Amino acid sequence: ASTGAAVNALQKDKAYVDGKWVAAKSGKTFEVTNPANGKILGMVPDMDRSDAQAAIDVAHRAFQSWKTTMPKDRSVILRKWYELCVKHKKELATLITLEMGKSLAEAEGEILYSASFLEWYSEETRRTYGDVVPLSSPNKRSMVIRQPIGVAGMITPWNFPSAMLTRKVAAALAAGCTVVARPAEDTPFSALALCELADQAGLPAGVFNVLTSSRENASPIGKEFCESPLIAKISFTGSSAVGKILLSQCANTVKKTSLELGGNAPFIVFDSADVDLAIQGLMFCKFRCSGQTCICANRVLVQEGIYDKFVQALAKVIDSQLKVGDGLEPGINQGPLINARAVEKVQDLVQNSINSGAKVITGGSKMEGPGFFYEPTLLADVTSDMRVAREEIFGPVAACIKFKTEQEAIAVANNTNCGLACYFYTNDMSQSFRVAEQLEYGMVGVNETAITGVDTTFGGWKESGLGREGGKYGIDEYVELKNICFGIQ
Ligand code: ADP
Repeated sequence: ASTGAAVNALQKDKAYVDGKWVAAKSGKTFEVTNPANGKILGMVPDMDRSDAQAAIDVAHRAFQSWKTTMPKDRSVILRKWYELCVKHKKELATLITLEMGKSLAEAEGEILYSASFLEWYSEETRRTYGDVVPLSSPNKRSMVIRQPIGVAGMITPWNFPSAMLTRKVAAALAAGCTVVARPAEDTPFSALALCELADQAGLPAGVFNVLTSSRENASPIGKEFCESPLIAKISFTGSSAVGKILLSQCANTVKKTSLELGGNAPFIVFDSADVDLAIQGLMFCKFRCSGQTCICANRVLVQEGIYDKFVQALAKVIDSQLKVGDGLEPGINQGPLINARAVEKVQDLVQNSINSGAKVITGGSKMEGPGFFYEPTLLADVTSDMRVAREEIFGPVAACIKFKTEQEAIAVANNTNCGLACYFYTNDMSQSFRVAEQLEYGMVGVNETAITGVDTTFGGWKESGLGREGGKYGIDEYVELKNICFGIQ
């Protein structure tokens, strides 16, 4: 297979450390492929633990000056970076579609979402206020200030290759921290493109560094991030399994961590719901990114009074609205899954459900290659003990479960160690308050599934994570509080 030329000027084939484009010390590289056709998109450096150490040294040195910059100066650079992302949204979106597979329209949406974090935190730089605290003692005063925590090590996933990075980086840089980031091996190009634009925006060398590596080097680099005394903070988005490894590796240096991990989102439709509105909401939150987001509906719980009607109507909409194919082609809204492993996992979950008594209403099969495609699928008669309802599907499969009472729905919804997002549809106002308050989740959509946004908070309860990203809360993850106590004679 030929590696071909760069698709546009923002496709870089080197990592970015200390403001320079660099190769791995070992000289090794690895291939990045397009999941829509399996073709090689390009090669990037396969960096290892020693490259990580060098980049951490750089970021630690850069921190000594970045932390003393004026908030207004950081703001100007972040704002410039935001404007460059918007200006280059087409090139950036093309890179996302090529390396990750989502449709170009979705990719453009991601770029605007991604850029919005740079804009938001360019504004927040000037608002890291502290407090003057009234004490019980007359001859003392306390001033609590917020200071940048230090170098932040970031590990990001492939499903939002741009937005998952800026959501962290923008908050960190605004606070005055510097960053060493390792993007997922499937999608390094979006991260490197952000480096190019950061450079153009005037971000000083060493403040934002991106290391690329194959899956084999993910674990050693992650270990270095967690164990290095020069890193003060780990921020990770990915699976709960890897999040737990990182958290335990951080114990020895008592490192602060922010973790955005897996979900098992229930999507509850009560008898009183507007069925068309619920289906519209479900189509967005189930099939966006071909079902590969951590807040995608994983279990569709439908009350018995409307169950049959709902399933029938949903099947029709799936068949008529979803167009599977290469995300670069016009009209396509369902791209491939990220790789062959992902297709096998979805196939296995669907087969397991069928064996346990679920019915396939539409879809239900892997599609012939090239590329890693799975049919949009609707399963009925799923029960909450089936694997498809207990594990994160991360694919285009809507699994419908019938329930009788509100209490039962809440119990089923909460019966999981995840607590990221959940959704429910009802036209009964008392029910909406009652249910929203009982759901053990960090994010609850009531008659709404587009629940994320730069201005509000994102994060999970239980094993879905630690900390929050976005909004005024996001910056808290990158500051330490300091109590300065003055004695007054
Ligand atoms: P997914 O299954 O969606 O790829 P992962 O949690 O496995 O989710 O991956 C998220 C990110 O974590 C990716 O960048 C991946 O390369 C990285 N990763 C995987 N294993 C480790 C590890 N042991 N230490 C550090 N990073 C890892």
